[in-house]
Amino acid sequence: MTFQDFNLTPDLVEGLSAMGYTKPTPIQEQSIPVILHDRDLIACAQTGTGKTAAYLLPILHKIINSEHRHLNTLVIAPTRELALQIDQQIEALGYFINVSSITVYGGGSGVVWEQQKRAMQLGTDIVIATPGRLLSMLNVGDINFKHLEHLVLDEADRMLDMGFYDDIVRIISYLPEDRQTILFSATMPPKIRTLANQILKDPAEINIAISKPAEGILQMAYMTYDQQKFGLLKHIFQEKEYKSVIIFCSRKETVKRLAAELKRIIPSLHAFHSDLEQEQREEIMRNFKNKQLQVLVGTDILSRGIDVTGIDLVINYDVPPDGEDYIHRIGRTARAETTGTAITLINEMDQQRFASIERLIGREIPKTIIPAALGEGPAYTPGIRRSGGGGNGRGGGKPQQKRHGGNKHSHSGGGQQRHGGGGNGGGQNQNRQQGGEGGNPDGQKKHHNKPRHDGPRNGPRPQGDRPQGNDNNSTDKPAQ
Ligand code: AMP
Repeated sequence: MTFQDFNLTPDLVEGLSAMGYTKPTPIQEQSIPVILHDRDLIACAQTGTGKTAAYLLPILHKIINSEHRHLNTLVIAPTRELALQIDQQIEALGYFINVSSITVYGGGSGVVWEQQKRAMQLGTDIVIATPGRLLSMLNVGDINFKHLEHLVLDEADRMLDMGFYDDIVRIISYLPEDRQTILFSATMPPKIRTLANQILKDPAEINIAISKPAEGILQMAYMTYDQQKFGLLKHIFQEKEYKSVIIFCSRKETVKRLAAELKRIIPSLHAFHSDLEQEQREEIMRNFKNKQLQVLVGTDILSRGIDVTGIDLVINYDVPPDGEDYIHRIGRTARAETTGTAITLINEMDQQRFASIERLIGREIPKTIIPAALGEGPAYTPGIRRSGGGGNGRGGGKPQQKRHGGNKHSHSGGGQQRHGGGGNGGGQNQNRQQGGEGGNPDGQKKHHNKPRHDGPRNGPRPQGDRPQGNDNNSTDKPAQ
């Protein structure tokens, strides 16, 4: 299945390919059609499965195709960190479209409250909020949700664990009855069922069970620049003798190139990819199973379905596309309760992805320092976004509304930032307004001129002023 199969707005699909999403994850495959068909949904999926895009993509599609634009979607998330991550995904997915969002979370001064309130009153498509602050705003009548069409509860089980059950029910009492409700939860304890019965109408149910890596796998990772990877592989093979090894690469071009280079030092090695004839593949696999062939360098076609015992090392030459692929790849070793080693090479660009894999499998993988002879590798700092998918510079501490996409409006006043088309400013100017930090390459920007909200707008805020909050609290539990 591809993203084209969902008939999403082409600008959204373009954003996906710019982000490097080549195919939908299982949760996306199942959720997107349900949400596009306006059906309520309860989905059991953990972080790392692609769950955020699973609900954002169809909602963004619906928003940009709706005739009247107003506060359309409310996403409730347990923590400020998650709210900000969701907002970043809207920014990235919505890079080529004209959609706005604002995060609302606890902490900060009265000024922050005013800014959040004002940005919402000025009009935004999506609000991402933590429950406590949102409820406080609703209680004083500062937000009007009368046109709301989508309610998303993200990580619902975590919100209930944090004691937000009653707050959520109260928030929902402010929302229109006629809405689509989408509930995502990593687990399905009885209280989630109770909540679902209370707030969802005839929901579709999706359950994405993720198996955890086998206990017998020793998982390791190296932080390394691409140009150090070959030297690192040599080091790994010199350090210990492995009988049966698979090296995974995400692209077959990399497989071919790497296999050709490695064959000079490891003669018993073969590439394995989809360009080979079926007969060749079968022969290679037979030799690998018989242990006549020591090393296979292959794409993810090797990661599923092949059951070869005795593989003692799996190397991820690059970080797999998602958590599931990681689990499938490393699951080639330590089969049938044996032990094995799985080593992942992480370059500076793949850190975020690796961090979400760690979240999915529920543990942090130790990062080993590369040998000094290879020079220094990059530091592991997954919290810092590097490029692509819209910038998110730090600092400022002012929660703002953002307009997603290439164009920025040039309205006066502070507090609002809108991403997406609809502006008429030139690319260079916009870049300056964004502070030029971490944005998508300018060459990829598109400028749309779609009509947007009628109300007054505040001026765009530099990306470096992205919301960070002024406090150290990551939630806005009612106690605040
Ligand atoms: P989530 O489960 O929403 O926390 O997403 C986990 C990670 O997977 C995030 O870094 C997403 O950017 C990434 N992701 C989501 N969907 C896809 C996809 N279809 N292909 C590759 N990566 C994806």
